[in-house]
Amino acid sequence: MAVMYERVALIGLGLIAGSLSLAMKRDGLAGEVVGYARSLETRQTAERIGLVDRVAQSAAQAVEGADLVILCVPVGVMGDVAAEIAPHLMAGATVTDVGSVKADVIAAVAPHLPDTVHFVPSHPLAGTEHSGPEAGFAELFENRFFIVVPGDAQRAAVDRLSGLWRAMGANVEEMDAEHHDLVLAVTSHTPHLIAYTMVGVADDLSRVTDSEVIKFSAAGFRDFTRIAASDPVMWRDVFLSNKEATLEILGRFTEELFALQRAIRQGDGDELHAYFTRTRAIRRGIIEAGQDTAEANFGRGTGASE
Ligand code: NAP
Repeated sequence: MAVMYERVALIGLGLIAGSLSLAMKRDGLAGEVVGYARSLETRQTAERIGLVDRVAQSAAQAVEGADLVILCVPVGVMGDVAAEIAPHLMAGATVTDVGSVKADVIAAVAPHLPDTVHFVPSHPLAGTEHSGPEAGFAELFENRFFIVVPGDAQRAAVDRLSGLWRAMGANVEEMDAEHHDLVLAVTSHTPHLIAYTMVGVADDLSRVTDSEVIKFSAAGFRDFTRIAASDPVMWRDVFLSNKEATLEILGRFTEELFALQRAIRQGDGDELHAYFTRTRAIRRGIIEAGQDTAEANFGRGTGASE
C-alpha cells in the first residue's frame, strides 16, 4: 500500500502504539515510525524488538518533522504530553490521540496546540487486557471501529487520517465527543467497572478465593477476571475522565439490578425470562454485525479494554 504519512510519531509505546506501528510497518503506510515512551525500560524494549523504526529520547524529539503525531498515553496525561510537544510540532502536521475518553482529552489537549496543526481526536474500539510494548500486534484493528471526532478540523485532514485507519483494516465512524463518551460508558466503561466489582466480591469471599474460584470458574466469571486484569492506570484515568457519563449509566444499571433482584425475591419467572430473552437478542445482533470480540481479536485477547 502507498505511504500515507512521511513520518509518524507515537508518544507512548504500549499496546495501542505498538499495534499501530506494526500495522503501519507491515503495510508500508508510513515513511518512518518514530516512538517515545516515558521510561528507559520501555524505550529499550521497543528498540530491542524493533517496534518502531527509531526510538527518540524525548517527546519533543519524537515529533520533530512528523506529519502525523499520535498520542498513545493514558488519558490522564494527554494534556501534559500535548504541552510538552506543542512548541516542536511541524506546521501542517495532524495530531490525533487514541484515548478511550474524548471530551476530557480534547479539553486537556486542544488549548496547548498551535493553530498551524490539525487536531483530529480518535478512539480505536479495539484492545486486549494486555499492556506494554510487547503486547501489540498488527491485526488488532482489523474489522474494528475507529471513532473519529472531527470537531472544527479541516475535512482534508480528517479524511486523510480516516484513510490511514481504514488502511489498517478498520471501519471509521464520526461522532461528537459527548456522544462518544456516553456510548462508551454503556459499551465499555461501565461493563469494566462491573467486572472489577465482581472479581472484588469474589475475592472478598476469602473462603472461595484460594482454589475454588479458579477451579470452578465458569465462563462468566473467567471472562470477568480477564477484563479485570486490564491496566489499572488506564482504567483509573478512564473513570476519572468520563465521570458524568459513567455515573449516568451506573445509575440506570443499579435500577435495573434492583428490578431483577425484586423479581428473584418474588419468584417472578416471567419477568426474568422476558428480560433474558431481550438480552439474548442483543448478543445475536452483535454476532451478526461481526463485532464478536473473541473472533475479531484472533484469539489473542477479548476486546476487553477499549
Ligand atoms: P499501555 O500499554 O499501558 O501503554 C501506555 C504507554 O504510555 C506506555 O508506553 C507508557 O510508557 C506511556 N506513557 C505513560 N505516561 C507517559 C508520559 N507522561 N509520557 C510519555 N509516555 C507515557 O497503554 P495502551 O493500552 O496502549 O493505552 C494507551 C491509550 O490508548 C490510553 O489512552 C487508552 O485509554 C487508549 N486505549 C486503550 C485500549 C486498550 O484496550 N488498552 C483501547 C483503546 C484505546 P512507560 O511504559 O514508559 O510507562
